Amino acid sequence: MNACSSLYVHIPFCERKCHYCDFYSLGNRDPELLDQFAAALGLEAALVARERGPAPPYRLNTVYVGGGTPTLLEPHALASALSPILSEARLEPDFEWTIEANPSSVDKAKLLAYRKLGINRVSLGIQSLAPELLARLGRIHTREIAIRALDDIFRAGFENVSVDFLCGVPGQSISTLEESIQEAQRFPIKHLSCYLLTLPPDHSMYQELPDEEEQLEHLLWVDHFLGNAGFEHYEISNFAKPGWKSRHNMNYWNGLSYLALGPSAHSFDSEKFIRSKNVSSLSGYCETLRSGRRPIEWSEELTPTQREIEKWLLALRLSEGIAEECFNTPQRRRMLDVFERQGLVVSHPVLAGRKRLTPKGFALSDQIIPSFI
Ligand code: SF4
Repeated sequence: MNACSSLYVHIPFCERKCHYCDFYSLGNRDPELLDQFAAALGLEAALVARERGPAPPYRLNTVYVGGGTPTLLEPHALASALSPILSEARLEPDFEWTIEANPSSVDKAKLLAYRKLGINRVSLGIQSLAPELLARLGRIHTREIAIRALDDIFRAGFENVSVDFLCGVPGQSISTLEESIQEAQRFPIKHLSCYLLTLPPDHSMYQELPDEEEQLEHLLWVDHFLGNAGFEHYEISNFAKPGWKSRHNMNYWNGLSYLALGPSAHSFDSEKFIRSKNVSSLSGYCETLRSGRRPIEWSEELTPTQREIEKWLLALRLSEGIAEECFNTPQRRRMLDVFERQGLVVSHPVLAGRKRLTPKGFALSDQIIPSFI
């Protein structure tokens, strides 16, 4: 692991599965199952800590508890499961610890208890504040519950707060998108993620998705609106007020190491270029740990070609872009020329010798990035 590393923890429970979700999570909040999971998570953390033996402690600069709906896990259960690692780790002075929350699973008392553990960032999954869209998406919360949750987060004293929205939802218009984001902005949020809804072709809502032109219109509107509101568009789907980027996600995008715990979680060792994945099965995860083994489904060492692909995929996601000398083949130079003429790639306005995607380039990044690989 690198000197400064990140820890990701996947909590695989939700109150109910949303209609569009393909993350590994169970629509089940049975307390017995949550207890079994927390015990297994503690075993995994202890195994990882033991395998490291007398090595110097982890220098952690970020922890991200995601899911699923991590706020279904009680603060004390989370703290005790992670203690084998956190009690041994050296936390960096600007340590960031994020928890993802869903509006219906938090209240002020619970948020205060998470803060007491050292959690200093909350990422709230709002998605929309339009009642008809929330119903369409199968979200369990209402507009009122989402606003109440935002209020509770700030009243509990969190300053570093992010909210998630979706665009490109069937039935969504620019004005519903604007109304939702405006309402959220009544609060001093520091970070906003806006993802384009994508569905597999066999999904019942797939035919109703807006066409590419409308999707582009949504994405460009979000870029424009949030730019005017003082947010920097620093990654394809992420916007931050100055100084408030997600440091955990920046570590991913900068290719640093991360250790991941929990079912379906992926880890990466950037010194050895080894990526691994845990089993995507709660019972398999718990049973393997109870028998004293790590629940790793597979692990692979990235080949030089895979590393090169990874470099392009990560670098062009970010507003910093990529060094000009990376366009080092006739094909890459030709494509760069084409995309520059189309206004999709530009020279970085501040960082000399770098090329970056424009807002339209971010929106079309799925088509652009593969052309360079
Ligand atoms: S709350 Fe999030 S993780 Fe859970 S089902 Fe909905 S989209 Fe998926």
